[in-house]
Amino acid sequence: MLTDQELLRYSRQILLQHVDIDGQLRLKQSRVLIVGLGGLGAPAALYLAAAGVGELHLADFDTVDLTNLQRQIIHDNASVGVSKVDSAIARLSALNPDIRLVPHRIALDEDTLAAAVAAVDLVLDCCDNFGTREAVNAACMAAGKPLVSGAAIRLEGQLSVFDPRRPESPCYHCLYGHGSEAELTCSEAGVLGPLVGTVGSLQALEALKLLAGFGEPLVGRLLLIDALGTRFRELRVKRDPGCSVCGAHRE
Ligand SMILES: [Zn+2]
Repeated sequence: MLTDQELLRYSRQILLQHVDIDGQLRLKQSRVLIVGLGGLGAPAALYLAAAGVGELHLADFDTVDLTNLQRQIIHDNASVGVSKVDSAIARLSALNPDIRLVPHRIALDEDTLAAAVAAVDLVLDCCDNFGTREAVNAACMAAGKPLVSGAAIRLEGQLSVFDPRRPESPCYHCLYGHGSEAELTCSEAGVLGPLVGTVGSLQALEALKLLAGFGEPLVGRLLLIDALGTRFRELRVKRDPGCSVCGAHRE
């Protein structure tokens, strides 16, 4: 059931026929793991908390640094030196006290990642390195949980949804497993705040659609964002039938 306060708080999205009371209830009953509370995880966590996703599991081993504040808008000046998870929890609970927040203040390894993924309905990959992306993908495919994957570097962003519940869906490894590009980090290459904000917001949007059950998810499609020219385009991406990660878990 939704309380009167919840009906009021979420009234503008409940008005949408795609959400309605049923969709809002599904959001309330949903649990989401956000891996990384940086430039992508910050807006994603804020929007999912504001929308009333019942449980947010927040994973980050790092503390807030002054150089983060140009883009990681969930943190502020007073959070510098504080754990990103604690900083995010303070902001999210001030935004919406009705949701449950579950902290993971450690770097998730294979075992802890499997347990963290098993405890939720959907995962947002908001991290900044290839190794973690591969590990998160493997855990999601093994557990049969949908993964909303976003990335941004310099002036380019990427977004896709990998959903092992759909037979045609590729996984992260199908696309990137061959290590096509050298790994770059934002500390080396630079990035703009509104670009990571756009990608993180789109990750939250895809998560809300999957959880409430409306719309067409970004499965089998890779969205490419060119901030310099303000251009969005998409590539069809296919499942690799020989993929060592998702192939093992499907017929
Ligand atoms: Zn795969």
